[in-house]
Amino acid sequence: MNHLHSTDTVLAHEGRSHGQPGSPVNPPVYRQSTLLFHGTDALDAVRGTPLAYGRHGSPTTRALEKALARLEGAHAALLTPSGLSAITTALLAVLNPGDHLLMADSVYDPTRSFCDETLARLGIETTYYDPSIGAGIASLMRPNTRAVFAESPGSLTFEVQDIPAISRVAHRHGAVVLLDNTWGTPLNFRSFDHGVDVSIHAATKYIAGHSDVLMGAILTTEALSPKVTRFYRQLGMTVSGDDAYLALRGLRTLSVRLERHQRNAHVLTEWLAAQPEVARILYPARPGDPGHALWQRDFTGACGLFGVVLHPQPDEAVRALLDGMTCFGMGYSWGGFESLIIPSNPSRNRTATQWAAAGPLLRIHAGLEHPDDMIADLAAGFARMRAAALAEA
Ligand SMILES: *Cc1c(COP(=O)(O)O)cnc(C)c1O
Repeated sequence: MNHLHSTDTVLAHEGRSHGQPGSPVNPPVYRQSTLLFHGTDALDAVRGTPLAYGRHGSPTTRALEKALARLEGAHAALLTPSGLSAITTALLAVLNPGDHLLMADSVYDPTRSFCDETLARLGIETTYYDPSIGAGIASLMRPNTRAVFAESPGSLTFEVQDIPAISRVAHRHGAVVLLDNTWGTPLNFRSFDHGVDVSIHAATKYIAGHSDVLMGAILTTEALSPKVTRFYRQLGMTVSGDDAYLALRGLRTLSVRLERHQRNAHVLTEWLAAQPEVARILYPARPGDPGHALWQRDFTGACGLFGVVLHPQPDEAVRALLDGMTCFGMGYSWGGFESLIIPSNPSRNRTATQWAAAGPLLRIHAGLEHPDDMIADLAAGFARMRAAALAEA
């Protein structure tokens, strides 16, 4: 499929077998542990290769890996059982005891816990940096800084990072750049064009896209692929053919879903910005957002996930807003077809920066429902919040 260059066409074609007449559109689901070989010559031929044993992948998992690598312009992709395991595997693959790691302060909280506990236990020191640091990251580089980890936009607070500037400094110092690119997706942020060495996805979110699969993906450059792959195999990482099939099926519609998620997020943020209780919208695709210029420069689109900072409200009033939503569910995830809303508090997990908002923060995922219904649900929630705030006053 190398002659196909348009992303939409790659989404529709990559990872399919255009083989025998009468073959189905989709790859079959391989359920496998043992693989059988006929004769000792055949057995010898695969010994020590990924084709010898079921744990090393199947045609189903390889189809998904190939499609993901192709979409983002990576040399290779590896599938892991969750987004978090993709992050931890990639970090452990590139770091050694005595190394120093630079980590964005706005990183997904479980990534932070892994650095503070497991990496610390292994003698790997982490320094958190302000996600807006850009080329200023040079001042934090030490002789033993081996990796810079970025997440852009950041979890909960949505700061966009200057990945090209950070990559230039990191590479000058011999460090590799890892990026949690879950929000950007392989479509909207082409990591390898911006200097990233390892791009990581919680495929759980938009790639699978239907809230029924947990999966992660590690995408690498050619230079890093052998090292990361070797470590990944030693850890025994694997995913099932069933899950890979579901994720590949989700992937086929990634670009149409993202377009609609983005459009719905745009409608919701416009409505929210006009409410007197809203202090700030955190959505880099929105003009006026601190990350908007970088987003415009480096991304080709956005998704449905954003934050809303309210002016200070009594706790009871925020609860009144959230309790009784009908279109929006409450759950600690995003990227599926359904709308979600949760309260969040980033101040507990920032150390290099401070989360200074006076009022509460909500995280909203604009799903694929009709925006009129989502707005009606939010409007009813804001009405409950107003009534509860008045009752408190
Ligand atoms: C959800 C999420 C992860 C973790 O993915 P899981 O599949 O839930 O382990 C990692 N990074 C970001 C930015 C996420 O939102």
